[in-house]
Amino acid sequence: MSDFLLRRAHLVELGAGPGWTGPVDLLVEGGLVREVGRDLERPAGIEEVDAEGRWLIPGLWDAHTHLKMWTATSGRVDMVGTRSVDEALSRLRGRLATSPGQPVVGYGHRPITWPTQPTVAALDEVAPDVPVVLVSGDAHHGWLNSRALAAFGLATREDVVPESEWYGAYRRIFEIAGDETSPEAYVRTLTDAAAKGVVGVVDLEYGEGLDAWPERLARGADVLRVRRGVYADALEHTIAAGLRTGDPLVEGQHLLTMGPLKIISDGSLNTRTAWCEQPYADGSGSGAPNQTPDELRALMARATEHGLHTAIHAIGDAACHDALSAYAETGARGSLEHAQLMTRPDVTRMAALGVRASVQPAHLLDDRDVTEIIWPDRADRCFPLRWMVDDDVTMALGSDAPVSALDPWLAISAAVHRSADDREAWHPEQELTPREALAASVDGQGSVHAGMPADLVLLDADPLDTSGDTAEQARRLRSMPVAATVVAGRIVHGDIVGSP
Ligand SMILES: [Zn+2]
Repeated sequence: MSDFLLRRAHLVELGAGPGWTGPVDLLVEGGLVREVGRDLERPAGIEEVDAEGRWLIPGLWDAHTHLKMWTATSGRVDMVGTRSVDEALSRLRGRLATSPGQPVVGYGHRPITWPTQPTVAALDEVAPDVPVVLVSGDAHHGWLNSRALAAFGLATREDVVPESEWYGAYRRIFEIAGDETSPEAYVRTLTDAAAKGVVGVVDLEYGEGLDAWPERLARGADVLRVRRGVYADALEHTIAAGLRTGDPLVEGQHLLTMGPLKIISDGSLNTRTAWCEQPYADGSGSGAPNQTPDELRALMARATEHGLHTAIHAIGDAACHDALSAYAETGARGSLEHAQLMTRPDVTRMAALGVRASVQPAHLLDDRDVTEIIWPDRADRCFPLRWMVDDDVTMALGSDAPVSALDPWLAISAAVHRSADDREAWHPEQELTPREALAASVDGQGSVHAGMPADLVLLDADPLDTSGDTAEQARRLRSMPVAATVVAGRIVHGDIVGSP
């Protein structure tokens, strides 16, 4: 179904002006929202779908993903946070039940604090017939069953495979896991994202040729919109191909367009390499840029000259400052990726320059504790989302999957309530309202309106329900029920059906 009339939807107000009160109808034709209004006439031959008063928002975007890595890791059984052998086995049973007869690769257990240690026998009891490989959370050992040990030619044993033997086997994990990044695996990843209301992603995967996505789409992974970024090593090739940001990569594949040139201008928090104005509190220096100021400007100017936007990874405040100066000097258009630590004046400058903040609020949940150790004197300037909204910086939320899960509701809820546990929110003065966080997740569309692409999401609950405290609001947002997702007029998730 690509053309349809949607009846009785509540438009979630994400724009500036007063929206519709009460449910309205929507005519979707040729991949666009043609008309919004009450009691619209149904054109002949067009199906009708009843929204039954559900809430309608523009489709959600993830502005920063590494889709190949996410696809490879998200197909594995998630063992993160398991607290015992039994808990790990119960997750394994879950996978065996949904994919019977299939080999299992899992990731993320950390058994140091478990009451009993993992054994081969425990896995054999649950999975005697298929190979099972569980990669530990620090990747330093493998917990394998007898089938998997035999498949790798490893000696039988009672315990896990230790580091010395494990590295050799880990390199051959594809022999068990199969191609974890096949087009079929991408379809699963993209369909999972669609079930969360995602209609598009910016894919900043490193080291993939320009033809990878067109091939993947031709082989069936044409579920969502993809904007494909490139790195400096592919810049000249991209220019030679005449591709500008926003162009379709291949004629006829309208879901796939050229994204930005990505430049990783500094390091990261956890490796103490993010480039800062002041030294880290643990004596590990101030971080450093990955290139000279001249190199950064040369790349940005070259991209700009050929119609490519830029996405500048900048985490430390010195990196953000220099990248903004580079935007000012080169006239480049684009974003700061992460913008994790900024000074107040630089946020204001960012708004004035029209540089977009491509931010990943879920990272604050993970980085909170280490920040208090190495940047205790500047924690109030980390993830400065409130300053950005107050200054009218254009903001786009994302996940940096696989760093955090490709789940916009996780990002939205972290922006609304800055805590992942029972602790008080971390610098709640930087929190956003549900409306602000959601508006930063819809690719700048605002409220659903006539003329926009028919990228739409129907929700079973009101996402702007602000009853209760922010912790409660975040909990509701985190588990927001998505009834249907529409990409370019095509229903890619949900079982709402039309009547002819
Ligand atoms: Zn990234």
